[in-house]
Amino acid sequence: MFDAPWRRKFQRRVRNWFASNARDLPWRRTTDPYRVWVSEVMLQQTQVQTVVGYYERFLRRFPNVRSLAAAEESAVLRQWEGLGYYRRARQMHRAAQAIVRDHQGKFPTDVEDVYQLPGIGRYTAHAILCFSQDARLPIVEANTQRLFARLLELEEDPTRSKGQRSLWQFAAWLLPRQSVSSFNQALMELGSLVCTPKTPSCTGCPVRDLCPTFSRGRQSEIPIAKQKMNYESRLEVAWIVPDLAGRVVVRHCQPKERWAGLWDFPRYHPGVATPRLAVARSMQQLAVDVGKVVQPTELICTMQHGVTKYRITLKVQRCLATETWPLPQHYRWASQEELIELPLNQTARKIARLLIAL
Ligand code: SF4
Repeated sequence: MFDAPWRRKFQRRVRNWFASNARDLPWRRTTDPYRVWVSEVMLQQTQVQTVVGYYERFLRRFPNVRSLAAAEESAVLRQWEGLGYYRRARQMHRAAQAIVRDHQGKFPTDVEDVYQLPGIGRYTAHAILCFSQDARLPIVEANTQRLFARLLELEEDPTRSKGQRSLWQFAAWLLPRQSVSSFNQALMELGSLVCTPKTPSCTGCPVRDLCPTFSRGRQSEIPIAKQKMNYESRLEVAWIVPDLAGRVVVRHCQPKERWAGLWDFPRYHPGVATPRLAVARSMQQLAVDVGKVVQPTELICTMQHGVTKYRITLKVQRCLATETWPLPQHYRWASQEELIELPLNQTARKIARLLIAL
């Protein structure tokens, strides 16, 4: 089935479809590898609509590799705040510094050099070089992975090594000789807009007569579902510790911690199921960490949020304002103005907004 005439037909159909269906996205209007790189990193695990605003703001603040490399990590994280997966931003910052140090500030053009940069895997390296220089390199990301799995009627889990091998081989075989960039973008767009995860729009799909999954009606079975995540509930407590000047204690999250590089309110997972006990236990830990016994006043709010496999119920507990005292390393007092400037994780940002509004 997969012979040269099949491929020519497929390429033609996909290109024609893209010519009249491509979305006008800001990163499609550039061939600057830095800008392509920023968009590709932001688009990992994040919806296109969310990325657009972040992308434009980020580039206004850091218009090129040198400005990103020269920035403080906290400034980079502040621009990234709300996009999640902060490791991406930290690695991009380190990669920008490596580009300035090892490549005179110019994004490398050799794929092997690009692989050496922190946080850049095969897909991102190929996407940057393909979209900026039309390099003839295959790409497999979430959208094309699903599209290819259905075109191949792949019986393996596409995220595991055997499935991945088949998908990358197929992606390389599909490539045209010329205009590879627009072809790869067309594939991603087709996966994103038509060959969607739940109910693909097969009737409007330009390659439906080339698709075995469609002809056998197996769209809901393919791609094979990943093993389901077993979610775990946990109760955490965040503490608002104010001084008499209205400043509050915040903590700098350390490397290897969740939200490394960002700031958070002192937060604890006391490992108990009842809120009253959780507050009492975390208060003891807080006293040890900040060097003072605090007096709890009211519960400000309860938030629900998810981090990896955890479904977290976060109790936000305020305590009585006291005189300022010197805080240990990694903690500091932050005024309302400083809370606005510091990079915070998403729940800490919500709490900060609440405090400023109160
Ligand atoms: S026909 Fe349906 S399942 Fe097949 S590629 Fe098109 S949208 Fe995807």
